[in-house]
Amino acid sequence: MAFELTPEQRQIRKVAREFAEGEVAPVAAKHDETCEFPAAIVQKLGELGFMGVLVPPQYGGAGLDYVSYALIVEELSRSDGSVGITMWAHNSLCANHINLFGTKAQKEKYLVPLARGEAIGAWGLTEPGSGSDAAGMKSAAVREGRQFVLNGTKAFITNGSVGRIAVVMAITEPALGSKGISAFILERGMPGFSPGQRYRKLGLHASDTSELVFDGVRVPEENLLGELHMGFVNSLQVLEGGRIAMAAMAVGLAQGALDATVAYMKQRTAFGKTLAEFNGLQGMVAEMATEIEAARLLTLRAAYLKDQGKPARQAASMAKVFASEVGMRAATRAVQLHGGAGYVTEFPVERIFRDVKLCEIGEGTSEVQRIVIARELLGFRA
Ligand SMILES: Cc1cc2nc3c(=O)[nH]c(=O)nc-3n(C[C@H](O)[C@H](O)[C@H](O)COP(=O)(O)OP(=O)(O)OC[C@H]3O[C@@H](n4cnc5c(N)ncnc54)[C@H](O)[C@@H]3O)c2cc1C
Repeated sequence: MAFELTPEQRQIRKVAREFAEGEVAPVAAKHDETCEFPAAIVQKLGELGFMGVLVPPQYGGAGLDYVSYALIVEELSRSDGSVGITMWAHNSLCANHINLFGTKAQKEKYLVPLARGEAIGAWGLTEPGSGSDAAGMKSAAVREGRQFVLNGTKAFITNGSVGRIAVVMAITEPALGSKGISAFILERGMPGFSPGQRYRKLGLHASDTSELVFDGVRVPEENLLGELHMGFVNSLQVLEGGRIAMAAMAVGLAQGALDATVAYMKQRTAFGKTLAEFNGLQGMVAEMATEIEAARLLTLRAAYLKDQGKPARQAASMAKVFASEVGMRAATRAVQLHGGAGYVTEFPVERIFRDVKLCEIGEGTSEVQRIVIARELLGFRA
């Protein structure tokens, strides 16, 4: 069993780390404070090939593997979770759905600008009335000649108001339940398609999260993505990769919390010693580091299975639920180990504590991940 990254994967991690430390970390606190979308950083991510990581070069992407992708997401999130989620929602959800199920013409028209970072992508499954029970959506697309007329609202969509291209799911045959949902590619500017309200959030302030509103949007039939009625089924495959990315984001945030805590413990003194010299506190950081390493290994294992073309649904859910809960524990401990300094915005652990909570909620909550894992274990069909 090989635990080593290839020289190429190590090089990619180095590039991502240098970029994150040099360009993302210095402005993370400011973007969090102002809720400013990191547009300049996203443009540079495009220049680095990080907006089309998994997309083949023929469609403008970097054509890298999932392990490399997980490393990039981890490094970006280690410096700023908002940049991490902006990048991976675009890659894993929007671009990857088109990459996996799009026609050649759809890839040429939509995937190329996404992969080059010329357009930001969003992906809409969740609705105001349906999240964990995503197939319980209300948005519907009714065929009229060579078009579908789309009505409904999506909720909590990452890149919803900054995105130019969106993949959205809607009911096309109500009688068929989850087998009667189709995916469509929408473009900003289509009449009737608009972002609704932009949410104010607990954390990830620099990430854009908004509604998507469809008011009689006339979608040409060539924008049907994948087979008719297969949109929800295909979404489950898309989510598998998304959960690996979310796990990598949680690992990155946790590592950021640990890095900050180690540095703080070496310089903060109490009772004539540095915090680093207290045995009890050493135990706390040792546990943090051990859990983070376990979460990283689960995440890279899930990514490796994807690269091998092996079943990865259970592995992705295991990585996601474990890494996100490790991330939350690490952030809580990091704040505790900073004392009062952990509760104020001067130190990054306060931001990480707020940002990492999303990892237990988005892409399927921790409860939903446990259901996915148990179904595989016990042999139930999804
Ligand atoms: C910042 C942010 C970004 C997001 N980005 C996107 C995006 O880009 N695209 C997108 O489509 N969605 C996105 N989401 C939506 C996200 O995926 C959902 O919020 C999530 O799946 C949970 O759905 P919900 O909010 O409707 O919660 P609910 O489904 O209402 O769940 C409420 C609670 O009930 C529990 N629960 C529900 N059903 C069960 C069950 N069967 N068994 C046990 N417990 C259960 C849940 O675990 C949770 O604790 C985003 C959300 C946020 C906050």
